[in-house]
Amino acid sequence: MSETKKILIGLALGVVVGLGLAGLPDNIYETVNPYILSPVGTIFLNLIKMLVVPIVFFSIILGVMGLGDPKELGRVGTKSILFFLTTTALAIMLAMGVASVLQPGERGDFQTTGLEFESTATEESSNIVQTFVNMIPTNPITALAEGNMLQIIVFAALIGFALIALGDKAKTWRQFIKQGDRIMMYLIHLVMKLAPYGAFALIASAIGGIGLDAVVAMAWYMIAVVLTLFLHATIVYGAAVYFIGKMSPVFFFKNFYEAMTFAFSTSSSNATLPVSMEVAQRKLGVPRSISSFVQPLGATVNMDGTAIMQGVATIFIAQVFASDLTMTQLLTVVITAVLASIGTAGVPGVGLVMLALVLQSVNLPVEGIALIIGVDRILDMLRTSVNITGDAACAVVVSKLEEKHLPPVDEDSWDEVGATSSSS
Ligand code: ASP
Repeated sequence: MSETKKILIGLALGVVVGLGLAGLPDNIYETVNPYILSPVGTIFLNLIKMLVVPIVFFSIILGVMGLGDPKELGRVGTKSILFFLTTTALAIMLAMGVASVLQPGERGDFQTTGLEFESTATEESSNIVQTFVNMIPTNPITALAEGNMLQIIVFAALIGFALIALGDKAKTWRQFIKQGDRIMMYLIHLVMKLAPYGAFALIASAIGGIGLDAVVAMAWYMIAVVLTLFLHATIVYGAAVYFIGKMSPVFFFKNFYEAMTFAFSTSSSNATLPVSMEVAQRKLGVPRSISSFVQPLGATVNMDGTAIMQGVATIFIAQVFASDLTMTQLLTVVITAVLASIGTAGVPGVGLVMLALVLQSVNLPVEGIALIIGVDRILDMLRTSVNITGDAACAVVVSKLEEKHLPPVDEDSWDEVGATSSSS
């Protein structure tokens, strides 16, 4: 049986067991979760997270070395950012459109008195400007130790340039980086063998902890978010990979879903990064030089799934609090949600904190977040899958635009890819 099938089975069993646990008395979940599900899930998650920083570091240096020319890096960067901004703006507009049609806030009786939500958004909002300012690390070792992705990207890219400029004078270092990258890719390949068990435990633990009553009460809100996520992934990414990337969307999704299932079980773009890079390179044939630059950048700044949740949530909260949004306010939501998604870190649940910023920008009550918090865990899983799919779609599109697209590599030919990279 293929690895991907095993992951899907793990995922499906996880959903069934999770739903079973959610339906049983709370004390059963409280016994099973801390002793079985949570430790298995966390061990798996930690094994992957352990590899994020070294993989990003080595592969960005390799990527820059592969691109060869700073101008090329500039072009790849500009195209990626344009792709990210356009798709995120489309995502939020689609979300507001779907929410306006389905009217989730009008369907049901939502209690608005006594709601409480502590907003930390103002603190976060300064991060959006600061995100750009802070991209240059004052101490690269701290950046690596703290896993500050943008700073690691900048530092690694500069080392890549230095290695190009120094040529043979830095031969040993070039070799070291190539071998380091190969070791990390090999480890991720090993860890992925545990994915079916890890995915099972993470999903069962997450779904088991969700109150089914909350899910029923918020059904229309959830339908609106899920429907928009589905439409955005199939229509926007489908069209982008088909018309610009010249790749069949069926091929794209069929091969990339392994990474999507992983994002679904971890709810973290950052933790999924090693897997999504490996899958994009091995199965979609995205060249390492593009993948290793575009995907870490995307995992940090491109969050279409998060923007979709924020779009639907804003309209939902406006409907619940009976406040009509003007055209200017809708435009403000688009702009702030795009900025908020850039500032959102690729870890579980941050999208909800950043939603406070979007709500504040149009004077909607931040306490509204308390209504959706109960079901956010499950939506976080889905939106994270969309977040990382957007990064991979961008990598496919940019590869084609740069005419660097390689023929797809066969599913089980990891050694071939490893061999290619070591000889590059
Ligand atoms: N969990 C999301 C991610 O890692 C971020 C969020 O929307 O909370 O992509």
